[in-house]
Amino acid sequence: MHSPESDIARSSQDDVLWTALAARDAAADGRFVYAVRTTGVYCRPSCSARRPNRENVSFHASCSDAEAAGFRPCRRCRPNEPSRAERQAEAVARACRLIEEAEAVPSLDALAEEVGMSPFHFHRVFRTVTGITPKTYAAAQRAERVAAGLREADTVTQALYEAGYAAPSRFYAGATERLGMTPNAYRKGGLGARIRFAVAPCALGAVLVAASERGVCAILLGDEPEALTQELRQRFPGAALSPGDAAFAEWVAQVVGLVEVPARGLDLPLDIGGTAFQQRVWAALRAIPLGTTATYADIARAIGAPAAVRAVALACGANRLAVAIPCHRVVRSDGALSGYRWGVARKRALLTREGVPDPE
Ligand SMILES: [Zn+2]
Repeated sequence: MHSPESDIARSSQDDVLWTALAARDAAADGRFVYAVRTTGVYCRPSCSARRPNRENVSFHASCSDAEAAGFRPCRRCRPNEPSRAERQAEAVARACRLIEEAEAVPSLDALAEEVGMSPFHFHRVFRTVTGITPKTYAAAQRAERVAAGLREADTVTQALYEAGYAAPSRFYAGATERLGMTPNAYRKGGLGARIRFAVAPCALGAVLVAASERGVCAILLGDEPEALTQELRQRFPGAALSPGDAAFAEWVAQVVGLVEVPARGLDLPLDIGGTAFQQRVWAALRAIPLGTTATYADIARAIGAPAAVRAVALACGANRLAVAIPCHRVVRSDGALSGYRWGVARKRALLTREGVPDPE
């Protein structure tokens, strides 16, 4: 059973193992251990102990093999316990699961505590292992969930909410100012809110203007007044809708003016609503100068979440204040117009009115 060929194979394999040992190559940890006859101890390849003489060394495929041969584990490199890299990978995997399963993004402190590291160290380890920060991972995870949720949910806003963008804790401070409704009313589709609305003709078809007590809460574009009213009802299922009065007609006229001549701007209070994430995206949209366009990636960068391009696109789609929040100025990175909540033809018309040359 003993051939010269297998001796040669064995000795050349031992050379490879010896080279890893001599280099204290951590990448070899877990692939084999080495034992030293003179000390009776076995180590992982990366052990910082003094390098043994090669003639005293034997190689073993596993800790149990080394122990079966009568060796005990080194107290320095603890070859029979998970390595630092393994412990870190395990901690990161656990943190990822926590992020995936949590309703709202767990704080850095909470994640770090859960895996038994300081927040600073945990952040560094997570980044080293995954190449991204926990926050970016959470954003990507949420974008995935939104995409999955869209198949189930009625509206983009609902999908975003269910994906956790609307973490209630983010809402409590100053929530009424931001939302124009209490958080609970917002979650229930504007339950208890009083919303006035009117539909008027405009150059782009019909425009529905709606306002809560806080300000303009919807500007919707379409062909059929009835369909626009239906859309308003879907967006605020819990609100009491009533037709606007004569004073409200003045607001409607201003919005029509904005649609026809975007350069006029809009001097009305807005009730923007949305989640914290959506509000950041919408603020960035309002910063795109008249007559220019930006890509979804530009917006993602502008809000400091360059990896969240898909979530940005969804937030653009969830905008319910057409033209006032100029989501029509966002185009694909190849310059193509891509989609628009109220139709690509209207997007093109709006950009043409603003003087964007030849929107595709
Ligand atoms: Zn050791």
